[in-house]
Amino acid sequence: MHLYSRQILLDGWDIEAQEKLKLANVLIVGCGGIGCTTAELLARAGVGKITLIDADTVEMSNLQRQIAYSQQDIGFYKAEILAKRLQQINPFIQVESITEKLVSQNAEQLIHAQDLVLDGCDNFETRYLVNQICTQHNIALISASAIGFQGQLFMVAEHSACYECLFPKEQHANESLRCADTGVLATTPNVMASLQAHHALLYLGLNRMALKQKLLLWDGLTMKQRILSFEKDQDCANCQASHTANVI
Ligand SMILES: [Zn+2]
Repeated sequence: MHLYSRQILLDGWDIEAQEKLKLANVLIVGCGGIGCTTAELLARAGVGKITLIDADTVEMSNLQRQIAYSQQDIGFYKAEILAKRLQQINPFIQVESITEKLVSQNAEQLIHAQDLVLDGCDNFETRYLVNQICTQHNIALISASAIGFQGQLFMVAEHSACYECLFPKEQHANESLRCADTGVLATTPNVMASLQAHHALLYLGLNRMALKQKLLLWDGLTMKQRILSFEKDQDCANCQASHTANVI
C-alpha cells in the first residue's frame, strides 16, 4: 500500500485499479530503447507479472538510450539484466526473462495467456507476427516504435483494426527501418515508451483504450502530437484469417 500510495491517492485510481494491475500478465517484446523504459515503469506501478523476451546482448551503442543498461552489462543478455533490475526495483512482482527471438514456434505459447502485449521490437517481421497472434487470440496489443525524431503508438483490441490493416504487409515486406541504420535521438524511444506504459496502465487498471483503432504520431522536432483514426481494412489478410479461425 505504501509503495503504491501516490497512485491510490489519485482521483479515479483506487485500490481496485491497483489490484487489477497486480493480477495482470504482460508480455514485453523487445528489451531495447522502448522495452527498457516501459518495463521499468510497469514494474514501479505494480504490474503483477511481467515477461520479457529479447535474444540480444547489450552493446556499447545501446547505452545512449536503453536506460536499464550500464557499461558493465556489455555482452550480457538484455532480458536477463532488465529482469534483474525490475526485481530490484519491485520485489513484490513476478518477472520472467526469455533470451530467445519471438518466432512463430514460440509466439502462440507466449502470447495466448497474456492480458496485454507491449511491442517495442525493432523489426517488421516480429511486429507482424505479434499482431497476428494477438489478433488470433483476441489479446490486447499496444505497439510503440521510434526512429530518428519520430514516434508512433497505437492499440489493437477487441477485434479492432490491426497493425496489418494500418500497414499492409506487402508494402513493408522489404523495409527494414532500424535505429542501427537510421539513427535515433536518446529521448525519442523513451518518450514513446512512457506513452506506451501510460496507455498500458490506463488499460489494465481502468479498461480505457484511448488509442484503440487510432494512431498517435509524435514529432520530436516540432514536439507536435497528432492522433489519426483508422478503420479496419476489409481486405486485411490477417483480420480475415483470424475471423475465419474464430468462426471455425
Ligand atoms: Zn487487420
